[in-house]
Amino acid sequence: MVLADLGRKLNSALSQFSRVSSVDQEALDALLKEICAALLESDVNVKLVSSLRQKVKAKVKAALDTGADKGREGQRKNIVQKAIFDELVHLVDPGVEPYKPRKGYPNVIMAVGLQGNGKTTTCTKLAVHYQKRGFKSCIVCADTFRAGAFDQTRQSATKAKVAYFGSYTETDPVSIAAQGVEKFKKERFDVIIVDTSGRHKQESELFQEMVQISEAVKPDMTVLVLDASIGQAAEAQSRAFKDSADFGAIIVTKMDGHAKGGGAISAVAATKTPIIFLGVGEHLADLDKFAPQPFISKLLGMGDVQGLMEHMHDVAMANPNKQKEMAKKFEEGKISIRDWREQIQTVMGMGPISKIASMIPGLPQDMLAGSDEEGAHRMKKLLYITDSMTAEELDSDGMLFMELGKDGKPIGLSWRVWRVARGSGTHVRDVEEVLCQYRMMANVAKQAGGKKGWLQAAQKMQ
Ligand code: GDP
Repeated sequence: MVLADLGRKLNSALSQFSRVSSVDQEALDALLKEICAALLESDVNVKLVSSLRQKVKAKVKAALDTGADKGREGQRKNIVQKAIFDELVHLVDPGVEPYKPRKGYPNVIMAVGLQGNGKTTTCTKLAVHYQKRGFKSCIVCADTFRAGAFDQTRQSATKAKVAYFGSYTETDPVSIAAQGVEKFKKERFDVIIVDTSGRHKQESELFQEMVQISEAVKPDMTVLVLDASIGQAAEAQSRAFKDSADFGAIIVTKMDGHAKGGGAISAVAATKTPIIFLGVGEHLADLDKFAPQPFISKLLGMGDVQGLMEHMHDVAMANPNKQKEMAKKFEEGKISIRDWREQIQTVMGMGPISKIASMIPGLPQDMLAGSDEEGAHRMKKLLYITDSMTAEELDSDGMLFMELGKDGKPIGLSWRVWRVARGSGTHVRDVEEVLCQYRMMANVAKQAGGKKGWLQAAQKMQ
C-alpha cells in the first residue's frame, strides 16, 4: 500500500530523530528535511509543505522560548514530535464538519464525479457502510449516460443486499432520480444514495445535469468522488465541481494504489471541504472513514483506535450477544489476553492484514512491513504464542507472566514465559513482545472505552 510507504518514511524520520543525543537546530533541520521530502514525494503541494516546515519551526521556537523543555532533551523531543504531529493533522484537516446522516429521516446523498473515478463502486460501499450501522439504505441509479451503469449497480447492490432503483428504458436521469427518491422515501429508507452520470472530463452538460438532479431530489449532502491518482490536481477539480454542484463532502478513491494519495488529501483539505471516506480497494468493505487526527495517527504507526472500534462494531453487529459481552468488558476495563486474541482473530478475518494491523495500537511498524502474506505470518505467530497459554493465563490480565517481588511489584519474567516460548516454538523475546502489545492494547482500550463503554464510544463516532 503506497500510503503506508509515506507512513514508513515519516515514521523512520521521527524514530531517527528520537535517537539523536542533542535536539539542536541541525537535528530539527534534518528531521524536517526528511519529512518534507516524503510529503513532496507523495505529491503534496510545495507551498503546503513549505508552510508546514515554517509552522513547525515557529511552534518549536515558541515552546522552547517559554522554557517548556526545562532543559531536558526528552522534553525537547516531545515538543518537536508534537509540533510535527499537529501540523500533519492540520495539513489534512479542512476544519469543516461534514453532514451526519440521522436515523428515522430520509437522508438523500447525491454522488457526483468524473467517469471512472469509482463513483458507482463507492455508492454501494457507502450503502453497505450505513446499512451495517443500522440505517436502512438504498441506491438510485440515475446514470443514463454510461451503457451498463444500471447493470453494474444492480449487480453490486444485489451482492451487497442493498435495495436499488433504476431503469433500462427511461433515458431522463432527472426523472429516474426523482422517481427513485420518492419511492424510497415512501418506503421509509434512512439513507438514499443517488448515483449520477459521470463524464470523461468536466463539461457543461455534466454540470447542468447535476444541477437539475440536485433540484429534483434536494440532497442533504452532495458527495464528490475523486480519484487519488490526480494528486494535487484534486484541488482544481474539486473547485470546478464546487462552482456547479455545491457539494458538502468528498470521498477520495483508489488510495490503495497511488503514490499521490497524500497530495490528493491535502489538496482537498485546502479547499475547506471535508473528506468523509477513503476508498482503499475494489471490495465493498474497502471504505475507510476519514478523520484528520486518526488518519495521521495511523499513518505514523500509532494505531487508529477509532477505526479499530468501528471495525469491531461492524463485526459485533453481526453477533449482538458477543457485542454486549465485549461492551461490558470494555466498560469495566477488563480485557483478558483471551479477549485480545479473539479480537485479533476477528480482525484477521476482516480484510488485508496490513490495513487491519495498522489500526491496532502497539503493533510495531515492522509488523506491517512487507507483503500481506508476511504480515499475516507475523500475526499468526502471535496467535501460536497465545495458543500455548493455559486457560488461566488466557483469562488473565498478563500479570501471571510476571515474577512479583515481596511488595507485589513485578521484578522480572515468570517461568511461564519460557514455557510458552518452548510450546510455541518461539523465543522468550517473542512472548515478551506479545505481552507488551497486549498491555498497550488493554490500556488504550480502557482509556477509549472508559466509563462510557466501548459500544457507546463506537456509536458516538458514527
Ligand atoms: P465510475 O465510472 O465513477 O462509476 O467508476 P466505477 O465505480 O465503475 O469504478 C471504476 C473502477 O475503479 C472499477 O474497476 C472499480 O473497481 C475501481 N475502483 C473504485 N474504487 C476503487 C478503490 O478505492 N480502489 C481501487 N483499487 N479501485 C477502485
